[in-house]
Amino acid sequence: MQRFLGLCAAFLMLCVSPLVHAEEQPGLAVAVDVHHVAKDLWRVDYRFAQPVTAVKLHSIGKFRQQEWKVLTPGMRMTSDPDSDVIASKGKPFKTASVQIRTFDGWSPKEYVSFNRFGDGGTSVYLGHLQGDVEQGKKTLAMRTDIKLFGLAQENVIAPPANRLEPGGARGYAYFGPSQAVPAGAVKILIDPRTPQWLRETILDAGAKTASYYEKAYQRDLKDELLIMVSVDNFESSGFSMKGGAILGQGQVSYRLEGKQVLLDHPKLRAIAALNVAHEMAHVWQMAVAQGGMRGDQDPWIHEGGAEAMALDALLQTGVYSEELVKAYRAKQAATCEKLGGAVDTYDGIYACGLMRFDKLGVGIVPLWRSMMLATEVKGDPYSQQMIDAIVSAM
Ligand SMILES: [Zn+2]
Repeated sequence: MQRFLGLCAAFLMLCVSPLVHAEEQPGLAVAVDVHHVAKDLWRVDYRFAQPVTAVKLHSIGKFRQQEWKVLTPGMRMTSDPDSDVIASKGKPFKTASVQIRTFDGWSPKEYVSFNRFGDGGTSVYLGHLQGDVEQGKKTLAMRTDIKLFGLAQENVIAPPANRLEPGGARGYAYFGPSQAVPAGAVKILIDPRTPQWLRETILDAGAKTASYYEKAYQRDLKDELLIMVSVDNFESSGFSMKGGAILGQGQVSYRLEGKQVLLDHPKLRAIAALNVAHEMAHVWQMAVAQGGMRGDQDPWIHEGGAEAMALDALLQTGVYSEELVKAYRAKQAATCEKLGGAVDTYDGIYACGLMRFDKLGVGIVPLWRSMMLATEVKGDPYSQQMIDAIVSAM
């Protein structure tokens, strides 16, 4: 079952942090082979450990209705607003194959299904191939074992494994000519079209905030971290940086779009640096042995928390001046005030989430350090009660 952690928009940027959670739901082993068969054509073969009566995937806009074709004879896909279902008129089956065309659209609250790179490569969000299966009335989460097959001569980079939920959702796989390059503690795959200023900003903010979080929160990364950057749509107006930490899987993916991507301006550098610091904060929020965040539970905690952690890291590492931090806080405070302090909207989760952390009157570093320790004890997710207990003991 897919749940979404929510997303954040600041100025012109978006960062999406969905997370798939099985919540102790029973699972069924599924082998998934992904073959890149032609430039914009993919074939996915599912093999189930036991017969199933349906494959049920959380709906991703029009992606599957437009681009998926069921190849297995006798089977078809039907869609409702919440899900796409592949079935064979109720008859059990053990295999299913689909053909997929590269999809250039995306839904604002979802990961982008495909990213095109300037080197001709493509990254595929594997999570959109994953979901649940049904055995009659019983629903089981897929426990997937994914294998990737590129075109001849093509390099394939698999996303790091899902450590917190083995067999659970995976991030982006890259198919193309490039290799990921080690940069300090992380590996990075960067679109050759990425302008120098953005390359510098992402690498600099990434390296500085990562080493700051490591020291401040007294934790090393639990996952090998792979950062992917793609650039597209220079024709569209403005500047958009859509980033997502793919949680528990050691991956951060950024997609940059718009004319202003080519423009080196301090304001855009500041937006990009904050986005990087925010996503890296999520990586540390999930650098725990168990527990962490749950998509359906108080998203203001991890999003507002990431905002507060990011501002602290940017200030302490000198990436942001005090004035810049103040200006951002003031802007978010104004947004939150307009929303009456509520955290039930897209903007409220981030703006009012940040305000809630600010109002606690405790340091963000000791607070989150304690939250990370607390979540690990029994695997309870981050929650308001956890914060209250920690703050009252401080
Ligand atoms: Zn976020």
